[in-house]
Amino acid sequence: MSTFIVISVFLLGLIVGSFLNVVIYRMPRGLSVVKPRSYCTKCGHKIRWYENIPVLSYIFLRGKCSSCGEKISVRYPLIEILTGLAAVAAYLKWGLTVDFIFNFLFLSLLIAITFIDIDFKIIPDELNLVGFFLGIVYSFFRHDFSVFDAFLGAVVGAGFLFLIGYLYFKFKGIEGLGFGDVKLMAFIGTYLGWFGSLFTIFFGSLLGAIVGITVAYIKGEKNKNRYEIPFGPFLATGAAIYLFFGERIREWYFG
Ligand SMILES: [Zn+2]
Repeated sequence: MSTFIVISVFLLGLIVGSFLNVVIYRMPRGLSVVKPRSYCTKCGHKIRWYENIPVLSYIFLRGKCSSCGEKISVRYPLIEILTGLAAVAAYLKWGLTVDFIFNFLFLSLLIAITFIDIDFKIIPDELNLVGFFLGIVYSFFRHDFSVFDAFLGAVVGAGFLFLIGYLYFKFKGIEGLGFGDVKLMAFIGTYLGWFGSLFTIFFGSLLGAIVGITVAYIKGEKNKNRYEIPFGPFLATGAAIYLFFGERIREWYFG
């Protein structure tokens, strides 16, 4: 492992993160993610190439559009850095291998899904579908995992979450989760298998409950059961944890 490769992988992650920012902004608005070139969302100023360098441009523009002075959200460079760190983490675990490519794509999709779900409370079908397809293709390259495991993971993940949502609705009369979350679990399941799917749902539910209750108290919400927060980000977090620590979690669980 050389420092040069780690830095290169981090830079690759920053560039992918910059693209994820475009996806996060445009996809839920029904805009093309490939054209036109990036522009200021307030004045329409076309972003020049040197204003579009991940993280650095944000710093030298001091977080403002060079044309109209509109504030640029600090979330843009943070998502780039997060994606850069995801790339480095994937490299440190898998090296420059096929596993690195597929798992880094997995993490990138989870990042895009997380922030779209936070902004719009939806998960685009396109992202779940691309992820599902990648998970199936990846299963042919894996030695720990067959295409059967991938499909089983999808069925168990989506089925179990659907069942929870159904029971929740039946007994509490509350539409607790959307179909986007169920489809997200089908995607995640193709990567993590049936046990990873179940871990993701349990972990995501636990984390979601903790965060949901905390946020409800801070905001002084009266009915704490009904406070609505998107579920996708918690499932994504659980999935990312299982991706990196799955072996240890399995050892701990199965003894
Ligand atoms: Zn502007």
